[in-house]
Amino acid sequence: MTEPPPLPPLSDVIRRYGLSARRSLGQHFLLDPNLTGRIARAAAPLDRGTVIEVGPGPGGLTRSLLAEGAARLVAVELDPRCIEALEELRLAYPDRLEIRAGDALEIDPGALGPAPRRIVANLPYNVGTALLARWLPGLERFERLVLMFQKEVADRLAAKPRSKDYGRLSVAVQWRAEVTRLFDIPPRAFTPPPKVTSTVVDIRPLVAPRYPADGDILERVTAAAFGQRRKMLRQSLRRLMPDPLPVLAAAGIAGTARAEELSVEAFAALARAFASSHGRGATDLRAAP
Ligand code: SAM
Repeated sequence: MTEPPPLPPLSDVIRRYGLSARRSLGQHFLLDPNLTGRIARAAAPLDRGTVIEVGPGPGGLTRSLLAEGAARLVAVELDPRCIEALEELRLAYPDRLEIRAGDALEIDPGALGPAPRRIVANLPYNVGTALLARWLPGLERFERLVLMFQKEVADRLAAKPRSKDYGRLSVAVQWRAEVTRLFDIPPRAFTPPPKVTSTVVDIRPLVAPRYPADGDILERVTAAAFGQRRKMLRQSLRRLMPDPLPVLAAAGIAGTARAEELSVEAFAALARAFASSHGRGATDLRAAP
C-alpha cells in the first residue's frame, strides 16, 4: 500500500467546492475511508493495467484506490463541480490519476487504457443498470468489475433460477461472468443517506461466454420469456415466433416450463434452437425489431 500524500478532509473539499448532493446525478457520497478502503481492497490488485472509476464525486473512493496502489486510474465524472474539486487530487498524483469529464453512458471504458482493466465504482443509482447493460457486450475486455448497486439490483444480478429476482439481467450477466455479492452498506454510511441499502458486487468476466449462443438472440429470447414470466414458455415465446413448441423441443425444454425455471444453460440452448429454426440467418434475427 502506498502512503497517501497529505490531503484535506473530504468534508472540507465538499464545503469549499459547494458539492451539495444532486439527486438527478445519483449523488450519495461515501466519506468513510474504512469503507472506501474496503471496496478498493476488494478490487485488488490494482497495480497493473488500468483501473477505471465511474463517478468519483468528491474523490473518497478515488483516494482509496490510489492509496491501495492503483498505478493508472482513469476516473469519469459528469458533474463539473466535482471535476474542479478533483483537480487537487490529480495534482497530488499527477502520474497516476486522470480525470475524464463526460457522461459514462457515452464513454467506452474499454478504450480508457491498456489491459488488464478493472472497473471499480460506487455507481449512481439512476444509471447503474444502464451502465452495466452497455458494458455487457465486450465484458471480456475487463478482468474484474467491483461495483456498488442498490441491493435490489445486486439481488437480480446474483439471482438463481426459481427465485423472484431471477430475470433478464441475471441471465445476461451470469452467461458472461461469475457474480458474487461481497457486502452490504447501510444508508447511514452515505452523505446524504439514500432510501435503500447498497451492495458491493464482484463481477469476474469469463474469457468467453459460458455456453455457446449469440448474445443479441439470447437477449431477445430472455426478453420475450421474462416479459410474461408467469406464463408457460409455449405462450410467452409467441411474441418472438408463431409456434414455439418445435423450438422448445429442439432445446430440450418442456412447453409448460416458465422462464424463471430455466437455467442460463437452458436459455443458451433456447437461443441456439431459435437461431437454427429460423429460415433466415442469425444476423437477420439479431436485426429484427
Ligand atoms: N464515488 C463517489 C463516492 O463514493 O463518494 C461518488 C458516488 S455517487 C453515488 C455517483 C457519482 O457519479 C456522482 O459523483 C455523480 O456526479 C456521478 N455521475 C452521475 N451520473 C454520471 C454519468 N452518467 N457519468 C459519469 N458520472 C456520473
